[in-house]
Amino acid sequence: MQTNFEIKKSNTLRFFRTLRQQSPLSRKELERLTGLSWGSISAISSELLQKNLILAEKESATTGRPPERLAVNPSVALSLGIDINSVGLSLNVVNIVGASLHAVFVPLPSAQKEDLLATLKTEVHRILELFPALIGINLSMQGKLNRKTGESIRTNFFTDWKNVPLVQFFEEEFHIPTVLYHDPEALLTYHMHADRRLREARNCIVIRVDDGIGMAQLFNGQLYETGEDTSCELGHTIAVPNGIQCACGKHGCLEAYSSLRGMKAAYARKSGRDPEEFPIALAAQDEIANAVMDEACRYLGIAVANLFTLFDVDSILIDGLVPAQLPRYYERTQDYARAYLNADCNLLQSSYKRDAAAIGACLLTTEKRLEEIIFDDSMYPV
Ligand SMILES: [Zn+2]
Repeated sequence: MQTNFEIKKSNTLRFFRTLRQQSPLSRKELERLTGLSWGSISAISSELLQKNLILAEKESATTGRPPERLAVNPSVALSLGIDINSVGLSLNVVNIVGASLHAVFVPLPSAQKEDLLATLKTEVHRILELFPALIGINLSMQGKLNRKTGESIRTNFFTDWKNVPLVQFFEEEFHIPTVLYHDPEALLTYHMHADRRLREARNCIVIRVDDGIGMAQLFNGQLYETGEDTSCELGHTIAVPNGIQCACGKHGCLEAYSSLRGMKAAYARKSGRDPEEFPIALAAQDEIANAVMDEACRYLGIAVANLFTLFDVDSILIDGLVPAQLPRYYERTQDYARAYLNADCNLLQSSYKRDAAAIGACLLTTEKRLEEIIFDDSMYPV
């Protein structure tokens, strides 16, 4: 049986979660949405107002006395999200409702591990001068990682990068609790928060396509976790038996064909031109560039069709730099997915946001630490 204290705790969490999802709300609206009694609503709101976790705002009144509306305080429990991606580094200071208060994007200094870590260190110190009271650092990282040890085991985009103890590196330098996430799970969390089409989703998949290809899955309303070592690597499933060699060492991986890096390399191989000219050639409807992208979309379309067949998900969301910037990529992939499925499918294109994964990483941690944020007063030294 629950003790009074446990009941109060769970009621307070319900109250706070509701307000976090939709602020501002009057006490009456909170009573209706949470199903809590008027007495509980009054007691909990007084306590949270006193702790400064929520704020009271008067409605701009017309006549009579307007009901006081409550909102989560947007300035408490700020955390830092960092997406470490081959496209660049996105750093965001994020509040408890997932709004980014400060955003920095830094192009990669080089692909060398030491340069990358040094840049991260400098940028985080700069942000801490502006926001000294961050409660956490949340990392979103490509490739294979170990959740338990906080190590980035490998990525094919940086040199010298093997078993890098990222969490340890940040905690020793900044003395702030740090968590490491696989980037697609942070991305999926962001979209579930920001994209109305996914709000009620129970089973869906997000695929991130940029220099690499990553995937995360929501399964029965929960993020599907593959264990200590993340291994949900769609990009390294085989698209072409004995195909071209992938950066991971295998031959014929999806990523070697359908990612930006794969397409650039294919364009250079087939045209003899500079790989960096690929996006320009594609925009100019160059025949070779078009054929390269068509092949990329065909293999991704097959992967998408297979995922729909395998998991019976409600929707698959395609995100990343490639569908956002390459014309026709998303549409061609959808055409192929429908053709191979022999049916329509709910393939969605996300509205691209470069710092979505950094914000999503913060949302993941905030949800996990909500109890601590509400009840542990030592988090906010006066
Ligand atoms: Zn591979």
